[in-house]
Amino acid sequence: KSGFISIIGRPNVGKSTFLNRVIGQKIAIMSDKPQTTRNKVQGVLTQNDSQMIFIDTPGIHKPKHKLGDFMMKVATNTLKEVDLILFMINAVEGYGRGDEFIIEKLKNVKTPVFLVVNKIDQLHPDELFPLLEKYQALYPFTAVVPISALEGNNVETLVGQIKKHL
Ligand code: GDP
Ligand code: MG
Repeated sequence: KSGFISIIGRPNVGKSTFLNRVIGQKIAIMSDKPQTTRNKVQGVLTQNDSQMIFIDTPGIHKPKHKLGDFMMKVATNTLKEVDLILFMINAVEGYGRGDEFIIEKLKNVKTPVFLVVNKIDQLHPDELFPLLEKYQALYPFTAVVPISALEGNNVETLVGQIKKHL
């Protein structure tokens, strides 16, 4: 089994942290500053029975100028070509304009989408269920997986679920 997996989400939700944890190398650019990842960065996870090619897709955000518009188109086309999309959100920040914009874009692609709720290490357990309900009302996600990319909670489970969908 092998496939391409695109990771999308607002800046700072933890996309690079997740990639680095999964791949086990510092291949993606990590930063606290928003939008420092300017290029598509790929990491390959090879296991005995599968190969997952991860793409840290930048540019899925509201364009402010023409170049942004072009980047958006490139990003949207990428989403159509991959086998699976991981839409990552910040469990603590919750729903915002940036997510709304991304969900609108997702409605134009047929690729299956996992909702990855990151930073659960910072979330009170009682707050998880209402958060999941809110997002699931907005889009028919193929799977919903809460994780902590930083601490590694549930990351193995997510990789297992990804493998099943390739
Ligand atoms: P990106 O912009 O989506 O690639 O986000 P980064 O991977 O650069 O992460 C942004 C910030 O969030 C960094 O300071 C990370 O250490 C932090 N971060 C990422 N994942 C987690 C997590 O699961 N829990 C916590 N508490 N912080 C995280
Ligand atoms: Mg990044």
